[in-house]
Amino acid sequence: MGVTMDVLVSLCKRRGFIFPSSEIYGGLSSAWDYGPMGVELKKRIQEFWWREMTQLHDNIVGLDAAIMMHPRVWEASGHVENFTDPLVDCKKCKNRFRTDQIPEENMKSHKCPECGGELTDARRFNLMFKTHMGPLEDEGSLIYLRPETAQGIYVNFKNVLQTGRVKIPFGIAQVGKAFRNEITTKNFIFRTCEFEQMEMQYFVHPSEDEKWFEHWKEKRFQYYLDLGVRKNKLRFHQHGPGELAHYAKKAFDIEYEFPFGWSELEGIHNRTDYDLKRHTEYSGKDLAYLDEVSKERYIPYIIETSAGLTRTTLVVLADAYDEEEVQGEKRVVLHFHPRVAPITVGVFPLVKKDGLAELAGNLEEELREEFRTFYDEGGAIGRRYRRQDEVGTPFCITVDYQTKEDGTVTVRFRDSMEQIRIPKTEISSSLRKAIKDYRRKE
Ligand code: ATP
Repeated sequence: MGVTMDVLVSLCKRRGFIFPSSEIYGGLSSAWDYGPMGVELKKRIQEFWWREMTQLHDNIVGLDAAIMMHPRVWEASGHVENFTDPLVDCKKCKNRFRTDQIPEENMKSHKCPECGGELTDARRFNLMFKTHMGPLEDEGSLIYLRPETAQGIYVNFKNVLQTGRVKIPFGIAQVGKAFRNEITTKNFIFRTCEFEQMEMQYFVHPSEDEKWFEHWKEKRFQYYLDLGVRKNKLRFHQHGPGELAHYAKKAFDIEYEFPFGWSELEGIHNRTDYDLKRHTEYSGKDLAYLDEVSKERYIPYIIETSAGLTRTTLVVLADAYDEEEVQGEKRVVLHFHPRVAPITVGVFPLVKKDGLAELAGNLEEELREEFRTFYDEGGAIGRRYRRQDEVGTPFCITVDYQTKEDGTVTVRFRDSMEQIRIPKTEISSSLRKAIKDYRRKE
């Protein structure tokens, strides 16, 4: 069954995934805090991406650039000039709208869609947050919070080239915060002013741009399937001429069918040599690449894969959510892939007495070395299983009287609710295999 945003927001709050920011002060619109479960989920999605994009390649290296960069970076990148949304204000209720997000008749009649008041003419509004570095608040100290992580990679192109033992084609991957003064922030963590991106910039010979674009487009789609997202909820959207960003030759979005409709999750862009050329021009530093073998000098093209980490977290949550009826009761279950589930294995004693609690406690401590575990001895066993279902724990292990006799335990699987008995000594290898082989049922 599909999930509504309200149900998701409420589950996230109740089970410690995501809280409204500064809630005791009434919250800050569109800012969210990740609680104990949410931070684990987000971290694991990030690790999953990092493994896929760096560890599994011998020609992609990592980077962690500063959020605050020289202001000239944003002139070179085109953000000072072009990173704008067209906006209108209502003179009466003071609400502000993006012109592409209000009905056309309101634009024609200059009438506010909220209160009917008069709308101002459209003007362009830059989305970058500004601040000042140092004691003086003047033009000379003006800096921006980065609106994308990509520029940190471009300005380090030469540094990585000189130190990273890389040859074209190669990639630089980075995960980090980005900031945009978004006017329309709604739908929970889908669009926020502060968010996290996972970007990989792949530097290629200009004659090979099409080939690598196709390669990364397919790879990135497959990544979401590997992450456990259902295939029928994913699709490509190609940018038409009117949608292409100022730097892009070709662009495809990977879209997900969110509870509020199809929307972008990741962009794959052919940015050509735009960025490195502009940084060469603005910095006066030569950012060309010399091919050691052919002796050709050229500015590489860049194929960018740009995903939102916080937005992927929303996808993983929405996609995992399921409600079903089990023995006349509602079961809420999150079908997370075991690799990203906040807790991998719950360990319970059937009852607290007769040494079972100690036995289960010791087992949980052993498993901690390798898995994210959670020990729970409170309440009926069925309720404990349900609590773990609701936070998406794929495996639960129960220690009972038979464990004392023959050293076996019950393993219960979240998705099928199937239970099997295995010797304690086989738990680690069984779980490892179950994680590796995991496939969600369509
Ligand atoms: P949108 O059209 O949704 O504003 P965009 O096309 O401007 O997004 P990009 O600049 O291509 O987005 O950014 C790459 C990715 O970063 C997006 O696919 C999305 O996952 C994420 N992202 C961008 N803006 C936000 C935001 N305000 N909040 C959360 N994630 C974002």
